[in-house]
Amino acid sequence: MASKLKLDDKNASFWLDLSSSPLLAIVRDSMTMAFPVIIAGAFAIVINNFPIKAYQDMMTRVFGERWKMFGGYVGDGTLAVLAPVMVFSIASGIAELHNSCHRLKTIHPLMVGLISFCSLMVIMEPSSDAATPFLWMGIHGLFVAIAVAIMSSKLFLWIYDRNTRLKFFTASPSAVMINAFSSLAPGIATIFVFAAFKAVMNYFGYVDIHKLAYDLLCKPFVGMGNNLGSALVFVLSRQFLWFLGIHGSNALEPVMTEIFPTVAATGGEFIFTRAFLDSYSTMGGSGNTLSLLLAFFVARRRERGIGVVAEISILPALFNINETLVFGLPIVLNPIFIIPFIATPIVLTVTSYLAILSGLVSVAPTEVVWTTPALISGYAASGNITGSLLQVFNLIIGTAIYLPFVRISDRVQALKFHGTFKELVELSYTMGDNVGASLVNRTDNIGSLSRALANDLLMSIKKNELYLEYQPQVDCRDGRVHGVEALVRWKHRRMGRIPPCLFIPLAEEIGFIDEIGLWVCDESCRQEREWIDREIKTVVMSFNVSVKQLDDDGLPEKIAGIIKKWNLDPHVMKMEVTESTGLSSDMGHNDIIRDIKMMGVNIAIDDFGMGHTSLVYLKQFPVSMIKLDGSLVKDVTTSKISMDIIATISELCRSMDIQLLAEFVETEEQAIKLKSLGCCMFQGYLYSPALSPENCEAAIRQGFRVY
Ligand code: C2E
Ligand code: MG
Ligand code: MG
Repeated sequence: MASKLKLDDKNASFWLDLSSSPLLAIVRDSMTMAFPVIIAGAFAIVINNFPIKAYQDMMTRVFGERWKMFGGYVGDGTLAVLAPVMVFSIASGIAELHNSCHRLKTIHPLMVGLISFCSLMVIMEPSSDAATPFLWMGIHGLFVAIAVAIMSSKLFLWIYDRNTRLKFFTASPSAVMINAFSSLAPGIATIFVFAAFKAVMNYFGYVDIHKLAYDLLCKPFVGMGNNLGSALVFVLSRQFLWFLGIHGSNALEPVMTEIFPTVAATGGEFIFTRAFLDSYSTMGGSGNTLSLLLAFFVARRRERGIGVVAEISILPALFNINETLVFGLPIVLNPIFIIPFIATPIVLTVTSYLAILSGLVSVAPTEVVWTTPALISGYAASGNITGSLLQVFNLIIGTAIYLPFVRISDRVQALKFHGTFKELVELSYTMGDNVGASLVNRTDNIGSLSRALANDLLMSIKKNELYLEYQPQVDCRDGRVHGVEALVRWKHRRMGRIPPCLFIPLAEEIGFIDEIGLWVCDESCRQEREWIDREIKTVVMSFNVSVKQLDDDGLPEKIAGIIKKWNLDPHVMKMEVTESTGLSSDMGHNDIIRDIKMMGVNIAIDDFGMGHTSLVYLKQFPVSMIKLDGSLVKDVTTSKISMDIIATISELCRSMDIQLLAEFVETEEQAIKLKSLGCCMFQGYLYSPALSPENCEAAIRQGFRVY
């Protein structure tokens, strides 16, 4: 059926839009954030309910009668308190969203989390049992918790935005106090509103909102018999409740007991029993999520893995525990998975019913413990192999239903990922020098992607993912290539080419630029050696160094070592230093550059005119070349100011015997104008982009047009 769904980008974008609704995204992200808590709880369930008698006996023998206490403790601290955990997390997420839209009205997210937590506790009904003071703190209370988180935080922020008196009170000694004081009115008001709500409910005789919600859920089933219709309505309702974050199985437990009793209670009279539903339509947990796991295997078999969440979910799923998938993937409030999550158990209920009705599968008068693994549970429920075969059949059908949705989900993830990547690249283009400073510390998707890229970058040299391209530098008077600039490239194994304006600042931030810089120097020297050995006309090889590399006192020695290793005359090499705010005489950068110049290596100041450049540097650094920045060159034909600046720099270079080169020369008009202003060395797309060594070699031999 669903396999007809097309997986083109338009389709994926639709699902992306649907699943990116900010509130849904916050609830899902909060579920995902709670993943470690949920996993710990799910494993505790497995430890306590492992359905093999020998295991249970062994645990009792080794740890004593009360061995299940350990799992109980873990459960009490994790799944049993999931509701407040989620309230806190969702409310903080809503506050962060609010802050990103209202920069002048920001509030500490923890404050909103705290108020929402208190609002939930206000409406909780204490239980009479001292061991569990509140009954609805766990998964069962999740639905109400999500609703409270959204309502209380929205109410809080609504009042907060209108209560401007204290927010701008700057005389306060600390930001924490400003947050606390400005949250007074909205905090008190929000908590009071929830208390009032509970008081009104009590007045009308409803003691507990959770119980009220659950009673309402069970009402429609009253009077329904044990038949296919009631089974389908039951499964549909249960799945839908799960999707909303409500523990469907527990919510409808009274219905289950009433309409679908245990085998023992009916003496094998009914087809639709607890064992039937557990064994045939919920293998791996509600939604028959064992099929979902199989769909992951099928869809992602060519990739390296099936995904972390799926991997972690395998073991619990064998025992029909799927909290990890329901909350970790998550399935809750995930519009992509709602269709198969509801459709699969409905279809499988029908197929199993037909199989039993037609006599293909028998029914055994045995109970089946809900944690019994698939195939064994089928054997137990039918008393023979027919039940297991039905389960295999059902698993195949279930996998086929889930598969297209897994593919859509993967596509949506890929789109999201590429969106973030595009954003990151655009950011790197616009942020210039400052890009690295704020990338890896960010807490959003851009931050995660930057950290992942930074990690991969550390391995890039070992994995041979870095290489150099060479851009010719041409004298427009004779068309000859006088030099080439080595430009580093990174071909990421999955994402393709990453622009240097992104990975160089990343490398600087994580302290990897020294390694990259030395690799570039070594590789460019190797190439120069190769060209000299092959008797290609000697060109000066330029390599770039980052200002951060100049912090290393040992740099001159290292560069000297590399040049010596390739047996080169230092005069054939040129080091390009990008002038930036970081270049400083206080930090000894001048001395390092001077030492390198003393070795015979030429020095070029790159991007001259970019803003921070000061003529003072010409006095401080022994410079052989100035490279005019693209921004000056770009409007040399239209801007009188650019023309005057370039003419002045050209004059200065002539008197100081410094070569002048114009970068980013893209048009003939620019070349002619620059020449008339006294600049005759060009580098830019008018001649050639950066080339592979072979193509660059051909360009050097051939030369270019004369202007
Ligand atoms: P840069 O050193 O100023 O290099 C010139 C950049 O301008 C290169 O971009 C080049 O491909 C591009 N370009 C050349 N001609 C034209 C043109 O006519 N039009 C336009 N629009 N662009 C042109 P690329 O390779 O992306 O490098 C960007 C920057 O990354 C470099 O600017 C340099 O600052 C840095 N970089 C590149 N390789 C290295 C390296 O090995 N080490 C260090 N530290 N930085 C490097
Ligand atoms: Mg450069
Ligand atoms: Mg440049």
